[in-house]
Amino acid sequence: MPETNSPSSVLIVGSMALDNVRTPAGNVTDALGGAADYSSVAASFFSPVQIVGVVGDDFPQEHLDFLASRNIDISGVQTIAGGKTFRWAGYYDFDLNIAHTLDTQLNVFADFQPQLPASHQNAEYVFLANIDPELQLDVLKQVKSPKLTVCDTMNFWIEGKRDALIEVLKHVDIAFMNDAEARQLTGKLSVVKAAKALQELGPKTVIIKKGEHGALLFSGNDHFAAPSYPLEDIADPTGAGDTFAGGFIGYVAQQNNTDIQTLRKAVVYGSVLASFNVEDFSLNRMRTLTHAEIGARYREFRNISFFEALDEASV
Ligand code: AMP
Repeated sequence: MPETNSPSSVLIVGSMALDNVRTPAGNVTDALGGAADYSSVAASFFSPVQIVGVVGDDFPQEHLDFLASRNIDISGVQTIAGGKTFRWAGYYDFDLNIAHTLDTQLNVFADFQPQLPASHQNAEYVFLANIDPELQLDVLKQVKSPKLTVCDTMNFWIEGKRDALIEVLKHVDIAFMNDAEARQLTGKLSVVKAAKALQELGPKTVIIKKGEHGALLFSGNDHFAAPSYPLEDIADPTGAGDTFAGGFIGYVAQQNNTDIQTLRKAVVYGSVLASFNVEDFSLNRMRTLTHAEIGARYREFRNISFFEALDEASV
């Protein structure tokens, strides 16, 4: 499929949250978070986004204004009068790859029944970001003929809604998971075997996120390893996975192309966006990030992982 210059829009459903987060670098209270918020903002660097979710009337208007200012269509966001927004509280110790959950309050997400506006039902690129897999399925059923469907999840749903999650996996083209979650869901200790087991459940392509150690793409029999970026300052890893996935699908939609070379580049763009996001708390770094910075870091990623072809004479 040839590359085009007209970006398709991406439909994203997932948590929209207020987070309390503590890391060795500091803490934030009631900060903008949620898988859909992180991934929508990341995707919006490449493509228009339609976000689907629900918030309570405690969700500050300035957060909705921020999303709207980023070429994100918020007409699929419901605000429930008298309702409370989804809340997550967690902390990280010096192993920044492990999020310790202190509290998850589904609040308005507990009774959410997404009704996609007609304009959203024709979405071509769909990202089912982390949320109850039953909601992910609800949204997927309402999209008429998507070109590419992608899902993400986390241990909370692997433990609590395993069957629904397996049903989601049957219906998506690409699944994102971090390494521990892939092992947990499949019972395979080897990440490679876990990825293959996930592929057998449905998705042709599986992307394993390894936190600050990069990411692996398994597509059919093709493998690709994206390096990690040697960041000097990490403030808050929250949302890195969502930002990675959002950058990935935003780039694929922009290119309107799902061939393997595009997917490989998308993994690098996702890594680039995630590496910026962890430099500050909440989505703060995304507010100042520029396309020039994204381009420069993409080039750095290429430089740090480039090596020469095998020297036949020396082996
Ligand atoms: P991550 O990219 O995995 O660091 O995602 C962090 C975001 O996930 C936080 O902003 C939380 O609000 C959100 N989150 C935490 N737990 C859940 C959950 N069980 N379902 C959906 N979103 C969640």
